[in-house]
Amino acid sequence: MTKDDIITLPNPHLRTKSQRVGLITDGILEVVEKMKSATISWDQSREHEVGVALAAVQIDQLYKIVIVRNNYDNKDDHTFTVFINPEITKFEGKLEEDFEGCLSVKDIYGKVPRYTKVRVKARDEHGKDFRVTAEGFLARIFRHEIDHTNGTVFIDHIKDNPEAFFRLTDEGNLEQLDYEKDVRNSRILW
Ligand SMILES: [Zn+2]
Repeated sequence: MTKDDIITLPNPHLRTKSQRVGLITDGILEVVEKMKSATISWDQSREHEVGVALAAVQIDQLYKIVIVRNNYDNKDDHTFTVFINPEITKFEGKLEEDFEGCLSVKDIYGKVPRYTKVRVKARDEHGKDFRVTAEGFLARIFRHEIDHTNGTVFIDHIKDNPEAFFRLTDEGNLEQLDYEKDVRNSRILW
């Protein structure tokens, strides 16, 4: 699996709800491994970005599976934690706006409001249930990825906000997009 297996907008599967995983079969574990290799491959092709997490739908496997990089400050660390059937059980803290990007929405970044703290329950790849509490950037990652499993893309949260859309330049800077031209009338985003 490589970065070319990652689906991008306007693929309608990105706005389709994924199914829950029942038994963790060899086929499911294979999907997990493919998600990891696709993320690493994408990451190696992007100079200014790190692939911090991925949902299975992004490699066109419509299962509720999310992987999160264990150390997203270090591109050489290729280990991930696997969350099967992840669910947010509680939102806490306050709503905070920050930049978000997505492997399935090329070059576009958005300022998305998210809660600063969430509790998540999931199953690991051995079938054991576990819970985590995430704060700050990690809480944002969980919201973003669990949204994917429910057919929501980050831009859907900000589609009516003309100030919220940015593009990553070749130099690695974010510049604001023309909302009417590049966002509202885009054939790629919607
Ligand atoms: Zn995403």
